[in-house]
Amino acid sequence: MNAASHRVGSSRLPLRAAAFVVLTCATILGISGWREWAARDQVLKGAETEMANVARSLTQHAEDSLDLLDSGVVGVVSRLEMDGTDPATIAKLKILLDARKKAIARIHSLAIIDDKGNWLTSPGTISSTLSDDAFFRQHQLSPKREAHVGHPVKSLLDGEWVVTLSRRFNKLDGSFGGVVLATISSNYLSHFYEQFEIGRNSSVALTHGDGMIIARNPSNDKFVGRNVADKPLFRDASLQRPAGAYHFKSSLDGVERLSFFKRSGRYPLMLLATVDKDELLAPWRAAAISRMLHVLALVMLIAVIGAVLVRQLQRGQRMAVALVEKEAHFRLLAEGSSDMVTRIGLDGQLRYVSPSSARVVGWRANQLIGTPALAGIHEEDRPHVQAAVDAMKRGEAEEARITYRNTHRTDTEVWLESTMRVTRKDNGEIDGVVAISRDITEQKKLETKLETLATEDGLTGLANRRHFDERLSEEWARAYRDRSNLALLMIDVDRFKAYNDQYGHPAGDACLRVVAQVIAAEMKRPGDLAGRYGGEEFAMLLPNTDAAGCARVGERIRKAIGEAGLVHRGNQPSGYVTASLGGATCRPALERTAGVGTLIEAADRALYAAKESGRDRLMMSVEVARPLPKAVGE
Ligand code: GH3
Ligand code: MG
Ligand code: MG
Repeated sequence: MNAASHRVGSSRLPLRAAAFVVLTCATILGISGWREWAARDQVLKGAETEMANVARSLTQHAEDSLDLLDSGVVGVVSRLEMDGTDPATIAKLKILLDARKKAIARIHSLAIIDDKGNWLTSPGTISSTLSDDAFFRQHQLSPKREAHVGHPVKSLLDGEWVVTLSRRFNKLDGSFGGVVLATISSNYLSHFYEQFEIGRNSSVALTHGDGMIIARNPSNDKFVGRNVADKPLFRDASLQRPAGAYHFKSSLDGVERLSFFKRSGRYPLMLLATVDKDELLAPWRAAAISRMLHVLALVMLIAVIGAVLVRQLQRGQRMAVALVEKEAHFRLLAEGSSDMVTRIGLDGQLRYVSPSSARVVGWRANQLIGTPALAGIHEEDRPHVQAAVDAMKRGEAEEARITYRNTHRTDTEVWLESTMRVTRKDNGEIDGVVAISRDITEQKKLETKLETLATEDGLTGLANRRHFDERLSEEWARAYRDRSNLALLMIDVDRFKAYNDQYGHPAGDACLRVVAQVIAAEMKRPGDLAGRYGGEEFAMLLPNTDAAGCARVGERIRKAIGEAGLVHRGNQPSGYVTASLGGATCRPALERTAGVGTLIEAADRALYAAKESGRDRLMMSVEVARPLPKAVGE
């Protein structure tokens, strides 16, 4: 992976982390929501099962109740068909019917009705005829012998709502003889249903096959006799099953309801158990809301922590980018610099070396890293470099600038100047030294050269005036200490102006160089010093030399110049370059008042005298007509 793609990849990290946090939160919410929905389904399924059971058992109860009624009716029918309807039989049967009614609570009434619709066994108060009643007409018209379950009707006896179960009985000739009727009270059923409390706002209703409500709990009085034949339960083809769950929204109160219906297989009855969905789900809803609030709190916590982490990640990344940039700048500086940048650890080993080391000391950075930092330093310089580094490591100095010699890979010696500075960790503890080293070999050479230049005369290579004067003072002091002689020769080229005029200035220079060589060749002893005193004037310092010695040297010089054979037409009579010399000696210890100046003056006067006397000669100061008082001896 290259740097650019790495940067792009890493810049997506906060985005990915954010996506991960969002995904985690969404997953937790999703799973929790799904679990709650599943729990809700479970509640509904449970309720459905419960209501299915209620519906089944109550349908069974209704069937059993009608069976019970029917068993009585069947018995009476067979007696009537065998014994006829004479008053004696009816009276006996009435006793039987009364006894049976008393014995079985759910029987509301048992009665025998003749072929005209008149009561044969009823309390005398009822005088009305039943000839128009639906069940009566049904039996009257149909020869069927089965039991007939009629609509709920209001009992003629006490005004209570009842369901009728009736059978036809025939006369001996087979014609319609009348009806045996048994009824069951709606109230009885409703009370019975009370035991089956399946929740607040729940209801159980028994309906006739044609849609009329037979009994209901609660509010039986309000609902009994109502026709619900127009409801989907009776109209929708899909609901015409023997049993099933049925969800609907009440047209009365708009509340959603969940119900289970069961149709009787033997009688035209249907039982409907219903619960209010809201009521049913209320406990689940309360628990779910509480649980979801917890989950929501958790998710929010995760989201907040996630957001903080993503922020930190972003900040960290920005800092890392800035750091990389900063490092790149420093690296550029260190590596682009012609100076060698090194970092020395506390153990004295090189930790970092910039590439310019190849130029400065001849070794590549990777060859130096891990080696002792002071290894290449000249033995004489190592102690003071070591001392400077040690002082910094001990915290005694923050920085140091030192100059030292270092071995180059090519075994030559280079002069280095290092600026060193202590580096510290974040906690301020010293962890090393950074050194910026520069090759100053050229500069050193130049300095040495300048130093030489300062003592030498540029044209002739002899000592210059300044140097000569210094040496003259030193030698004077030495002669004073040693109580020895000091001699000085002043040498001036004869008619040199004319030489320049005739042969030109460059030729004059060349001539001066030759003269200087000739003079230098006469420096026989280590202390002797020849110098260019100015223009075409030279001087020779001769320590520990007496007048005779001085005169000997002077004479040798004079001769040698003459013999050099430098043609100088203007210098007659010889026609060659010649020089005049003035010599002087002194013994400083004996001539306390005399100084360097007096010696020079004496030599100068002698030179002047030599010129005066015709040139190309040596004069010693003692020979001069007007010797200086006391200043110069001999
Ligand atoms: P004399 O000493 O014999 O009396 O005569 P002179 O011609 O040498 O007289 P003077 O000392 O007055 O003249 C010195 C001349 O030397 C003047 C100058 O042109 C020449 N001169 C001085 N310095 C240099 C030099 O460095 N190079 C050259 N070519 N000529 C120099
Ligand atoms: Mg001169
Ligand atoms: Mg001269």
